[in-house]
Amino acid sequence: MSDLLFNLAVIPVIPAELQRLEELANDLWYGWNRRARSLFERIDPDLWTQIGHKPRLFLRCVAQDKLQHAATDDPVYLSELQHVLASYDAYHAAPAPHSPPTHSLKSDDLIAYFCAEYGLHESLPVYSGGLGILAGDHCKTASDLRLPFVAVGLFYHQGYFTQLIDREGNQIARHNAIDIDHVPIHPVLDENNEPLFIAVEIANRSVQVKAWRVKVGRIHLYLLDTDVAGNSPEDREITYQLYGGDLHTRIKQEIVLGIGGVRLLRRLQLTPSVWHLNEGHAAFLILERLREYVEQGYRYETALEAVAASAVFTTHTPVPAGHDHFPQELVLHYLGHFAQQLGRTPESFLALGHGHDGSPDFNMTALAINGTRHVNGVSRIHGQVSSEICTAFWPEIPPQENPVDYVTNAVHVSTFLAQEWSNLFDELLGGNWRDQLCQQSLWQQLANQVPEKVFWNTKQSIKSQMLKVIRAALLSQYCHQQLSQSHLQRKLKYIDPDNPNILTIGFARRFATYKRAALLFNDLSWLRELLSDEERPVVFIFMGKAHPADQPGQALLKSIHQLSDEPEFVGKVLLLQGYDLAVARRLLYGVDVWLNNPVYPMEASGTSGMKAAINGTLNLSVLDGWWAEGYDGQNGWGIKPSPFSQEPSRRDQDDARSLYEILQDDVIPLYYQRNQYGYSPQWIRRAIASMTTILPRFNSVRFLNDYVEKFYQPASEKGRAFFANSLQAADELAQWKRQVREAWPGVQVKLLNLPKNPLHYGDLLELEVTAQLNGLSADMIYVELLLTQTVHHPEIMLSDSPTPAQTQTYRFLPMTTQPNDKQVIYRLSIKPAWCGNLTGRVRFFPHHALLSHRHEMGMMRWVGDF
Ligand SMILES: *Cc1c(COP(=O)(O)O)cnc(C)c1O
Repeated sequence: MSDLLFNLAVIPVIPAELQRLEELANDLWYGWNRRARSLFERIDPDLWTQIGHKPRLFLRCVAQDKLQHAATDDPVYLSELQHVLASYDAYHAAPAPHSPPTHSLKSDDLIAYFCAEYGLHESLPVYSGGLGILAGDHCKTASDLRLPFVAVGLFYHQGYFTQLIDREGNQIARHNAIDIDHVPIHPVLDENNEPLFIAVEIANRSVQVKAWRVKVGRIHLYLLDTDVAGNSPEDREITYQLYGGDLHTRIKQEIVLGIGGVRLLRRLQLTPSVWHLNEGHAAFLILERLREYVEQGYRYETALEAVAASAVFTTHTPVPAGHDHFPQELVLHYLGHFAQQLGRTPESFLALGHGHDGSPDFNMTALAINGTRHVNGVSRIHGQVSSEICTAFWPEIPPQENPVDYVTNAVHVSTFLAQEWSNLFDELLGGNWRDQLCQQSLWQQLANQVPEKVFWNTKQSIKSQMLKVIRAALLSQYCHQQLSQSHLQRKLKYIDPDNPNILTIGFARRFATYKRAALLFNDLSWLRELLSDEERPVVFIFMGKAHPADQPGQALLKSIHQLSDEPEFVGKVLLLQGYDLAVARRLLYGVDVWLNNPVYPMEASGTSGMKAAINGTLNLSVLDGWWAEGYDGQNGWGIKPSPFSQEPSRRDQDDARSLYEILQDDVIPLYYQRNQYGYSPQWIRRAIASMTTILPRFNSVRFLNDYVEKFYQPASEKGRAFFANSLQAADELAQWKRQVREAWPGVQVKLLNLPKNPLHYGDLLELEVTAQLNGLSADMIYVELLLTQTVHHPEIMLSDSPTPAQTQTYRFLPMTTQPNDKQVIYRLSIKPAWCGNLTGRVRFFPHHALLSHRHEMGMMRWVGDF
C-alpha cells in the first residue's frame, strides 16, 4: 500500500430526533435489552450483522440517508425509540421514596469487585469464556438490584482472539486491535478534565496506568490500561492481550489489576467496604491494602486481620494446577519492594503465597486465602472439592467443616432469555415476572398454563432463526475452506431454516481437554449406528476455541473437523468456527439438546447449560457442577459419572456408553414420538419442566442475593468492626491469634469420665474434661461434644452429605473464668434427643467472638470418643 495517501473517517451526523441513540450506545444496558439493540439493527440490519453488533461503531459508519429515513419517515421507529428510552429512563430513575430495599447492605456500603475478564456483550470483547460471562452477569445483576457496586478489570487492546478453522482443521487465532472509538468506553477524567493516570511500581520502575470507564446500567466498570505514551514499549504491551504472553506478562497484568485497581478506587475517592476477588488473578490487591495500613503505622498482623475480614474470594478451578502461580524469583523481582514496605523479610513475604502443594511457587490462590476470610466455590460439588484442595490451610479441620463455602453460579435472565420467550411470559404471566424470578410458584403456574402447541411453535421459530444464522456462518466458513458445491450441500443438508424438525444437538464451549469435546466419538461404530437411521436423523453442532497455547485442545478441534468430513458423518457432525457470545446465544436458544460431558468433578459449575435450560433446550450432561443440583429426573438427562475416575480410558468408555444409551433409548425416540400435530408431547413436557424448574433456581438474582447474605453483608459488618477506632478490634484479634498460636501445642484436655451407659430417654448425659491451657484463659477454648446417631445402612454411611444430619454438637461450659488457672474444668450436662445407638466424640479448638469463621485458625484436637 505504498500509494496510500491518507486515512479519513467520515462520521454521520445524528439527526436531532435520534440524538439519544448515542446515550444508548454508551451504556452496556443494551447488552441485556434486545429492544435497545434492535433500534440500531432496524436502521441497517446488514451493517449491524457485518460489524458484529457494535452500537458505537454502528453510529460512526451507518449511511446518513438511513439515519435520516428513521428520523423523519418512520413513525413506527420513532415510537419504538420513545418506548425504549422510557424504559431506559425508568431503569435509571431513583427508586420511589418508600420502595423496599432490594438488599440488606447499608447505604454507605460499597462492594468492589475485581476480575481479569468481563463478558458483558460481544461489542466489548474483553472476555474469553465462562469466568468473564459470569463476571458480566454479576455486574448486570448488581445494577438491576441497585447494589452499591463498582467493578475493576483490565482493558485488553486486542481482546481475546477470534478463531478461524482452515481446511485441514487447524485453528487460526487472530488478535484484532480494538478501536477505542468503536467500543463503549471513555477515559476517566481528573479534576482538570484531563485523562486520569495512576502509577504502579513494577520491578524498579513506575508504570503509568490509564483508566477507562464503562457504564453498565447503574454501575461502573473501570478498565485499566498501560498502553500510554511515556511507558516503555514493553510496559505498553502489558495489557495487550487477555491470557496472552508469558509468565512475566501474566504477573505484570495481575499487578496492574490488583494494585492499580486499589489505587484507582482511592484516586476516585471511593471507599469500598467489601472487596471481592473473583478468582485469584486479582489477589495482589491484598498486598496494596496491607501496604496502605502499614504505611499509616499499623502493625502488619493487625492490618492483615482488618483487610482479610472485609474481603471475599471466589475460586473457580477444581484442580490445584489450574491455580495461578509464579516462581519466587519472579515475585521478588517484580514485587520485592512490597516486602520492604510491609516490613517483611523476603521469606515471610513469600509465605503469603505458600500453596501447601509441594511447589515452592508463589500461589495466587494461597495469597487470596490468606488475605480473605470469606472463601467460596461455585457449586456444591465444587465447594467440596475446593475444601479438600485447600485443606492444608486449616490443617486440623476436617475439609467439610473448613471455611470454604459455595454459591452455585447462575445466569442473567434478561441477557440470556430469547425475546420470544419473554414476550410469551409477558402474555401469560403479566409484566411483573421479571421482579419475581425466584418465585417457584410463578414458574409452576407457567408450567401449568402454557399450551404445548404454543410452546412448540415458539421453540421452532427460535430454532429456525438459529438454523438460518448457523447456515450462513457455515456457508462462509466452507467458502473460505474452498469446499466443492456438492460437498457443501451434503454438509448443510440438515441445517435448513425451513425444516426445523431434525433433532439438533449442540456442544459449544472452550476446548479445554477436561471438557472432552470428542467423547461422542469414543465408540465410532456405536455412533454410526445412532446416526444411520434416516427416519430419525440427528445432527451435532460443535463450536469452541482452544487457547492458542493449548496444543491438545487444538488437536481435539482438528480431530472433530476430520471426523465431520468422514462420509458417514458428513452433515451429521458439524464444526463451526468463531464461538463468541453472539453465536452462543443463538445456538443455546435454538438447539433441541445441549450436550456437556466433562470429566467429573472438573466442571466447577458451568453456566451454558442454564442458558439452554431456561430457553426450553434440554440438557444432556454429566452430573457435575451445577447440573448435579439442577437435574431432577424430569427436566433433562443426567450422565452418572463413571466410578473409575482414576483410569481415564475406562472412565471415558463408561461415560461414552452412558451417553450413547441415553441418546439411543431416551433422547432420539422421545424427540420423534410425534403426535398428529407434528410434535412430541412428552418432549415438550420435559422442555417445559426444564425451563420452569431451572429458571427460579439458577437466575442471577438468586445468586447475587446469596452473595449478599452469605458474604457481602457479613464481610461488611466485620470490616466495619475491625476498622473502627483505629483498627482496635483487628489489633485485639491479631494479638489473640499470636497468643493462641504460641500456646496451642501445650494445651491439653483430658476426659474425666464416660457417660453412664445405657441411659434412658430423659436421663442426663454428663461429662467433664480437665484442661491445662498453657497460659490461655478458659473462654479462649471451646470444648464440644459431637453426638452421632449410628446408622445401620452402610449406603447412608457412605453418603457425601457435608455435615451428616444425624450429628448434633453441644458446648461444654468452663467452671471458672479466672485467668491463669492451671487446671480448668469444663462440664456438659444434656439430655440426648435421640434413642438408639449413639457415638460421642469430644474436641476442642480456639474460640474468639471476632473470628469470621469458627475454624479460621485451622486448629482443632480430639479428646477422645465413646
Ligand atoms: C455461558 C458461556 C460460557 C460458559 O460456558 P460453559 O459451557 O458453562 O463453560 C462460555 N462462553 C460463552 C460465550 C458463554 O456465553
